[in-house]
Amino acid sequence: MPAKHLFVIYAGGTIGMKATPQGHSPVPGYLPAELAQIAARTPNFPAYTLKEYAPLIDSSNLKPEHWNAMAADISRNYADYDGFVIIHGTDTLAYTASALSFMLENLGKPVVVTGAMVPLSEHPNDAEQNLIDAFQWATQPNLFEVCVAFNRQLLRGNRSRKLWGAEMGAFGSPNYPILGRVQGHYELNIALCLPKPHGAFQAHPINPALPITGFKLYPGFNVEILKKLLLAEPPLAGLVLESYGAGNAPDADAELLAALSHSTHKQHTLILNTTQCVSGRVDMDNYATGSALARAGLVSGCDMTPEAALCKLYFLLSQRTSVLGPEDKLPISLRGELSTG
Ligand code: ASP
Repeated sequence: MPAKHLFVIYAGGTIGMKATPQGHSPVPGYLPAELAQIAARTPNFPAYTLKEYAPLIDSSNLKPEHWNAMAADISRNYADYDGFVIIHGTDTLAYTASALSFMLENLGKPVVVTGAMVPLSEHPNDAEQNLIDAFQWATQPNLFEVCVAFNRQLLRGNRSRKLWGAEMGAFGSPNYPILGRVQGHYELNIALCLPKPHGAFQAHPINPALPITGFKLYPGFNVEILKKLLLAEPPLAGLVLESYGAGNAPDADAELLAALSHSTHKQHTLILNTTQCVSGRVDMDNYATGSALARAGLVSGCDMTPEAALCKLYFLLSQRTSVLGPEDKLPISLRGELSTG
């Protein structure tokens, strides 16, 4: 078998940072030099070509334009490489993995996103092991999706969340089993992975200017603030509502329901109902407080993470679709991001 060759995007993050008087900050050129040494001393490390983004960012500065740049880089290099690694900050890593999962249609090669809680410049760190694992997963012949490699596990990208801010195992996949783990060797559970696609690979850009936002309910939230969003002119294209439990909201608040209904029915805003619970799913038939939202025109986010929900809105609303509208596609699994039934 010919040796695998990977294309690597280095976008920034703690992994390549050094301590400065202002706090940790990415240092251009540092990670590529360290990576070359790791590659030289690690048996079977795949060959790679690395593109360092300028400027390198703390991923808190990430914008949808970065997703377009990454998708374009993967698309330009798709035919020439066996797999792709994206080195990224952990803060918004789950958003990037989710966004790319939708943007890269009929993906027939692994795209593995990784980062670290402790930089290569400090010891002990998780950075070196996460890099080695990401590179190994990216050579897997049976992986056709965007994944996250972290803390010896492989997660589906659009199911991943940064759940723990102070642990090496920062990422979880609360509504879907992990795809793989490293226990002496790289064990991929193929039955859980997406099948090889039939169609031709295509990278879809998203429109960063789309007016999309999120709103999280809490007891006593000010309906006037939400109304300002819902009744804005020009109208919102999409909103991710983080409601309670199985997708419930205060149905005793007639003003709230009227504003939601006006927004979906008159302003054609796509409102996705997701749950604040870390695991579980939205079922708007379960409670009267949920069915009121269905009548107000909200679409169920099923068991999607809030990150995947937001990115799916960006993706669908950026598409000029024909037969099915975005609202029809929201409760359908496009890339394994939700479980039906
Ligand atoms: N603030 C950093 C970032 O997201 C955190 C990290 O990479 O762990 O870029």
